[in-house]
This record gives sequence, structure tokens and C-alpha cells, in this order.
Amino acid sequence: MAMFQSEIPFHGMRDIDACVEIIRSFYVRGWVLGTGGNFSVLLTRKPFRLAITSSGIDKGIIAPEHFPHVDASGNVVEGTGKPTAEAGLHLAVLAAVNAGAVFHTHSVWATLLSTIYFPSGGLHIEGYEMLKGLHGVDSHTHREWLPIIENSQNIPSLGDTVQKLLEESPTVHGFLIRGHGLYTWGKTIYEAKQHVEIFEFLLEVIGRRRTMLIET
Ligand SMILES: [Zn+2]
Repeated sequence: MAMFQSEIPFHGMRDIDACVEIIRSFYVRGWVLGTGGNFSVLLTRKPFRLAITSSGIDKGIIAPEHFPHVDASGNVVEGTGKPTAEAGLHLAVLAAVNAGAVFHTHSVWATLLSTIYFPSGGLHIEGYEMLKGLHGVDSHTHREWLPIIENSQNIPSLGDTVQKLLEESPTVHGFLIRGHGLYTWGKTIYEAKQHVEIFEFLLEVIGRRRTMLIET
């Protein structure tokens, strides 16, 4: 299978296979250890069908059968397994932005920085060439706002917060949940993968700068 090769505009089982490889690569990089993180691929908008990772699946051994299909209400319409507890957040993102895939990671840097910057409501990222990996960004001078919302186990309430956030800030490419991790998305799984890599890189740069005691 051609992995990470091109942006295939087809969302189907081929995308699920590619998504599995992407998740395993994220696992190796320490961004989705254990059962951390969850991933969804929009199969069709009408009717709304979303393939989303099952609850409690170890991301190091995830397989294509771990993607039940849900409708716009989160009900399983195909496949087996219980969808991730955070399915409501994926649905909230997809209700607010025109995306084809939503990826969520639990990295060390996202966890740390989301607690440090939470009192400011988020963090601005600017001056880095890697910003150009975000869709529509063409200069390192771009000033990216990465909002941070409070964590909660009340997913319907968190979903409302996410939807409101994205309606108020439609130009963001992702957000952090305090002490929890990163959500980002893309028109394709390849764009979503790229956004995870860019944000994880930038968060690590910012985190390492702080540990080097450089003024930011
Ligand atoms: Zn999570």
C-alpha cells in the first residue's frame, strides 16, 4: 500500500488502512501511548457516516476492525466495538469545520503546555518555518492561535464548548484540552496527519525553549 504518498480524495476502507499505519507511527513517536488518543475518518457527509476508533484500544496494536461506523448522533451503524468515549468531540469538530478527518493525540508536550498556558486561554505560535505546514499558512510570520479548553469527563458539555470555540474562532487549525492533549483535523487523513506533526513539532520547540530558560 502506498503510505503517506498522496492526498487521495477517496474516503473509504483504503483510508482506514492508511489511518491505521498513521496511528501506529504516532504510537512509535510516543504521541498515543497505551489507549491514549482517538481518530476518525469521515466516510460520507450525506448520509453522515464516520469511522472512529473504538474505546480502550491500544494504539500500538490497532487494526482496521477497530473502526466502527457511527451516524451524526454517535450511534453505531456498522462494525463492532464501542466508539471512543470522545466521539462527541469528533462530531462537534465536524459539525463546525469542513474536515474529512479528526485526529487527537496525548503527547507529553501537549499535556504539559496545555496546563502551563491554560490561564491565558491558549498560546500564540509565530516565527517558525514549520507553521507553513498548516493549511493556508504561507509564511513563518503567521501568528497561529492555539486555544486551550478545560478538560472534563462530561463529553456532551465539552462538545458544546468545542463547537462554540470553533464557531467563534473558525481560522484555528486545532485546540488543546488542559492536561489532556491535542485535537486537529484536515480535509484528508494526510492533511490531518500533517497538522498533528506540525503542532507536535511546534509544541516541543516551545516546551524545550522553556526548559532552556530562554525568554519567550
Ligand atoms: Zn483524549
